[in-house]
Formats: sequence, C-alpha cells, structure tokens
Amino acid sequence: MIAVETYASADQAATALHGDAVFLGGGTLIMRAVNYGDLKTERIVRSTDPAMKSISTSGERISIGAAATMSDVMLNPQLAFLAPVARSIGGPAVRNMATVGGNLFASHPYGDFAVALLALDGRVSVAGSGEEDLGAFLARRSSFSGVVTEVSIARPATGDFRYRKVSRIKPKGVSVMSLAAWLPRSGGRLSGARVAFGAMGNTPVRANGVERALEGANLDVSGIAEALRAVRTDLQPPDDPIASSWYRSEVAPVHLRRLLLDEEVS
Ligand SMILES: Cc1cc2nc3c(=O)[nH]c(=O)nc-3n(C[C@H](O)[C@H](O)[C@H](O)COP(=O)(O)OP(=O)(O)OC[C@H]3O[C@@H](n4cnc5c(N)ncnc54)[C@H](O)[C@@H]3O)c2cc1C
Repeated sequence: MIAVETYASADQAATALHGDAVFLGGGTLIMRAVNYGDLKTERIVRSTDPAMKSISTSGERISIGAAATMSDVMLNPQLAFLAPVARSIGGPAVRNMATVGGNLFASHPYGDFAVALLALDGRVSVAGSGEEDLGAFLARRSSFSGVVTEVSIARPATGDFRYRKVSRIKPKGVSVMSLAAWLPRSGGRLSGARVAFGAMGNTPVRANGVERALEGANLDVSGIAEALRAVRTDLQPPDDPIASSWYRSEVAPVHLRRLLLDEEVS
C-alpha cells in the first residue's frame, strides 16, 4: 500500500521527503513503476505549489516552474523556441502530464528536454536551497533527494537556439540521440556557444571539445569542420537496444552538422 501526501508548498513537500519517500511530478515514469510493482516505497509526496507552475521572464533569463508540463511549454508564447523540444517528447497524453522537473531525472534514453535546458545555460533551484548549474546537478542527480522548484535558462536571440531529436520511429520514438545548441554570435563569429547531447551518456552532457572548436568560428561549412572532428572523441555513448555506441559515434558528426547549419532533413 502506497500513501500519497499532498502539500501546499514546495518547502513542506521537501521536508516530508524523508526515508524512502518519492516526489511525484507528472507521474509518467513513477506511475509506470508503480503499475509494474517496481517502486519500492510506502510514501509518495506531491505539491500543489502554484509557484512550481509559473513561467516568467526577467531580463535575459526565463524561469520555468518544475511542475510546468510539456503542453504548458508548447502553449506559452515566451517559450516558442522550446515548443519543438516539448513537442518531441512522447505523445499528447504524455505531454499533458510530463513535467520539466521530471525530465531532469528521466534516465537514458529519455531526458530530451533537459538537453535543451543544458544548452541554454540551465540553472536549477531546489526548495530550501540556492541555485545550481544544471550540468553539476545532472552529475549528482542519482543521489539527489529534494524538490526542484524551477529551472532558469538564458533567453536566446531569435535564431540562436537549435534542437534536433534523432529517432528511428516518427513522430514519437525514443532518441538515438538528441542535440541542442545555443549559438550566440559577436561580430558575426560564435562566442560562448553551448552544445549538449542526450542519449550519448548516462545523463544529458555538454560537448566541451565541440564548444571549444566553435569559439570564434564562423557558422559555415569550414568554420564548423574542427567541431565535427571533435565530436567523435568528445562523447562516450552507451550501447542500448536503440543503437550501438559505435553507430552513435559514427552518426554524431552528421547530426551535429545538420544542427549547426540548420539543414532541412526530409
Ligand atoms: C510513453 C512514454 C513516452 C515518453 N517519451 C519521452 C521522450 O520522447 N523524451 C523524454 O525525454 N522523455 C520521455 N518519456 C519520459 C517522461 O515522460 C518524461 O521524461 C517526463 O518529463 C518525466 O516527467 P514526470 O513529471 O512525468 O516525472 P515523474 O514520473 O513524476 O518523476 C520522474 C522522476 O523525477 C522525479 N521528480 C519529478 N519532478 C520532480 C521535482 N520537481 N523535484 C524533484 N524530483 C522530481 C521523481 O521523483 C522521479 O524520480 C516518456 C514516457 C512515456 C511513458
């Protein structure tokens, strides 16, 4: 028997997360685990805190409540650049439930939304604690216990954000890989580009060698050549039933080129 406890604030929910209690977001992964008898807990904790649903812009950054769903993202004009990312996750029923916060914990090959947040300089807020770099948070997420309240991201200039999800089944298969890039430019050249991959490691990861190779480069065929070479050695993709590690490494430069040059794929 599992008891479900509902708290009005994120702080109260965080305080209640002791022992083997599990926090419930939209439940697309947790309820599947419950139904299969895979969740070993006697307590599920949830929060109805309205702040966890809010989406707001402040200067050059946007804050997205952890309880905002993929459908909320798709409907919000401030997040139009993220609508294709949200739309790439599951089918409509999943998108109505799946939350931004839950996506940070979705294990390989899920976590497509977190890939976009990572490219956009995501910072995670945790109830009762401060803000933390998303990359550092993802690295320690397996031992994390608490409530994520929101993720803040940079607001990209028009055309500076790109995302692709590569899957074998259209439109809603799981990822062979997902890729996201934030490509700010200064004087026409890339400056501080961030490139992230999903399904290419245990968590979404940044491609640091690719980012170094893009610094000061032009966003054209010759400008990105070094970055395409770097991606082969940057990541250690896992084998899974979707694709082998070898295959993922071989096709990564192809998909990175398409992403960076914004090439149409039929
Ligand atoms: C049919 C199907 C298709 C899917 N397709 C995709 C896909 O294409 N891409 C993809 O990325 N994912 C996919 N998913 C996985 C999942 O739906 C998403 O990753 C979703 O964003 C998870 O969020 P959730 O709110 O449902 O998480 P939940 O199931 O509620 O929770 C998942 C984990 O996150 C933790 N958690 C949730 N919210 C918080 C919070 N605010 N603070 C702390 N911990 C929290 C929970 O404790 C739990 O450990 C799919 C799932 C299904 C069932």
